[in-house]
Amino acid sequence: MVKTTPQIAVKLRHLPDQPGVYLWKNSEHQIIYVGKALNLANRIRSYLTDTAKDAKTEQLVKNIADLEYIIVNNEAEAFLLEANLIKEHKPKYNILLKDDKRYPFIKITVNELYPRIILTRDLQKEGGRYFGPFTDAKSLRRTLRLLEWVFPIRNCTRHIADDRIRYKRPCINYQLGKCPAPCVGYISRQEYAVLVNQLIGFFQGKYSEIMDDLRNEMLKASEEMQFEQAAKYRDRLITIEKIRKRQTVYYTDQRNIDIIGYYQEDRNAVAIVMRMIDGKILHQENYPLVNVERSTGEETLSAFIRLYYSQKDELPDEILLPSQPADYEDLNAWLKNRLILPQKGDKTKLIAIAKRNAFHLVEESKLAHLRKASRTIFPIQELKEKLNLPKLPRKIVCVDISTIQGSDTVSSAVFFENGKPRKKNYRHFIIRTVQGQDDFASMEESIGRFCLEIDKEKDLQPDLIVIDGGKGQLSSALKVLKDTTYSQIPLISIAKRIEEIFLPGRDESVRLAKSSPALRLITNIRDEAHRFAINFHRRRHSRSAMVSELISIHGIGEETMFLLLKSMGSVEAIRSSSLEQLTSIKGIGEVTARLVLDFLNNRSPSTTNSADQH
Ligand code: SF4
Repeated sequence: MVKTTPQIAVKLRHLPDQPGVYLWKNSEHQIIYVGKALNLANRIRSYLTDTAKDAKTEQLVKNIADLEYIIVNNEAEAFLLEANLIKEHKPKYNILLKDDKRYPFIKITVNELYPRIILTRDLQKEGGRYFGPFTDAKSLRRTLRLLEWVFPIRNCTRHIADDRIRYKRPCINYQLGKCPAPCVGYISRQEYAVLVNQLIGFFQGKYSEIMDDLRNEMLKASEEMQFEQAAKYRDRLITIEKIRKRQTVYYTDQRNIDIIGYYQEDRNAVAIVMRMIDGKILHQENYPLVNVERSTGEETLSAFIRLYYSQKDELPDEILLPSQPADYEDLNAWLKNRLILPQKGDKTKLIAIAKRNAFHLVEESKLAHLRKASRTIFPIQELKEKLNLPKLPRKIVCVDISTIQGSDTVSSAVFFENGKPRKKNYRHFIIRTVQGQDDFASMEESIGRFCLEIDKEKDLQPDLIVIDGGKGQLSSALKVLKDTTYSQIPLISIAKRIEEIFLPGRDESVRLAKSSPALRLITNIRDEAHRFAINFHRRRHSRSAMVSELISIHGIGEETMFLLLKSMGSVEAIRSSSLEQLTSIKGIGEVTARLVLDFLNNRSPSTTNSADQH
C-alpha cells in the first residue's frame, strides 16, 4: 500500500461500495483529479496499491493529499456529475476541452420574455440556448443576414421584462422588417414564441418541419385573402431553401447523426463533431483538448465524449465514432445505445472525413505553435550566433543600478526565460556597502548578491548576464563574477547611447542592426530592469514618507505605526478612518487612535474620557 496522508487514511476506512465520483486533492486543497466509479471503495483503493500504474497515475498519486467523494444512484449519474465537476474545477490531471474563443456561437436568450438572438464567443451556459461553435464565421454571418428576414426576432438590448409597453417607438429594424417590435407591443408573446421556436428548429436542422409550417401558414393566409402576408411566407420558404441548397448532401439517411473525428499527436489533440441533419452536414464543431499527453487515445476519446454530451440537451439518433473509446459499454449505456463504430459503407466514409478534418486541425495548431516559437527562439538564436555564446541564452538576467538624490542606490535584476519575463525570479537590492554614487562599486555588490541568490535557488542561474552600462560596469561585474562558482556564465553589457554591446576582453563593441530581433530582446530586458529599479525606489520612498509622517506623532512608537499601516494600508486610509475603525485594530486603544486622528487631520488633541486614561 502506498503511504498516504492522515486525511486519506481516515477516509479509506469508511469508503462506500457504491457508485459515485471521487475527487483527489493536493496539499493546497486544489482538486487535481476527478473520476467516477461503479464501486467507490474498490476504485479509490486501487490508486493506493503497490501495483504498477501508468505514468499519469503515478504522477497523480505522488501529489494527492486528500480525498472527497460523492455517492450517486447509478453510473449514468456518475458520468454526468464527473463531467460537470471536471468542467467546473478543470483539474490538472483530467483531460479538458481547451477554452477556445476563436469560433462564435449563436445564443438565443430563451430565459427572456422576448428572446434575442446574439452572436457570441463567450460560452456561458446559463440563460440561453447555444448553437455552434461555427468554424466559418463569414458564412454564419451571411446565413444570419438571411435569417433576419425569415425569423425576425430582436437583437437589441431593450429591457422588456413584462407585457407593459415601455417604449414609444420601435427602432429601424421594425421598418426594415427585421423585428416585429415587441418593445412597443406590436406582437403578442405567443406569436413571438412561434418565431423563436422556428428559429431554434432551424439551428437544430428541422428544416422539413419548419417548411411544412410555413407552407400551411401561406395557404391559410391566401385563403383568407391576406396576400401580403402570404407573400411573406412564400419569401421565407424561398430563403430557407436557398440556405439549405448551400449545404452539400453527404448521405441519404434522414436521421440526425453526430460524426466524431479525433486525432492526437503528442500533446496536440483535437476532437471534432460534424452534425449531420437530414443527410446534410449542418456544421462542424472543433475541440482542441488539453492534458492529453499522459493518456491513451481510447481514454482521450472517452473523456471527450463524456464532456461533450454532458452539456447537450438532446442526443442525436446516432453517434458515429472513429474507434472504440475506453469505457465503451458504460458510455453507450449512458448515451442510450446511440454509439456506432462503422466498419464499412457510407458511414466509414463520413468517419474518414471527420478524421481528416481533425488531422488538419492538429497540423494547423502545430504550425501555429512553430510560428509562435519562432518569434521567441529567433532572437535567442541570433544572440548566440552574434555574440558567440557557448549555448542558447534561454535564461537571461539583466542588472541595472539606480541612484536618486545622489546617495540612495538600489539595483534590480530581472529574469527572462525564452524571451519572456519571469517575474518570480526578479530580485532587487538596496546597496549597503557603497557611500555616495558609485555605479561600479554598486555593480560589484549587486553581482555578488545575485550570486548568493543563485546559491539559494538554482533556478535563478542564467545562461547570460546583461549589465546596463558600458565597459566600466562590465569590468566591475566581471571582477566579482570570476571569483564565484558562476564564472562560466557569459557576461555582456549594453550601453544606452547607441545601443552598443560590450563583451569582456574585447575593445570593439558589437553593433547589431536596429531591426535585429536579438537587439530588440536585449533592449527590452534592459528597459524592464530599469523600470523595475525605478518602481522599487518609488515604493521605498512612498513607504518612508508614510513612516515619517506617522513617526512625527508624539507618543506613537514603531510597533503602533506598523500595526496601523499593516491594517489600513496607507496614511491616507488611516487619516480618513473613524475612531471605531482604528480601535477595532487589535493593539490600538482609544487614546492612541484619537492621538493619530487628531494629528493627521490637523486637529488639536481631543479630550479623552476618564476610561481612556486607564
Ligand atoms: S424594434 Fe424594438 S424590439 Fe425590435 S430590435 Fe428594435 S428596439 Fe429591439
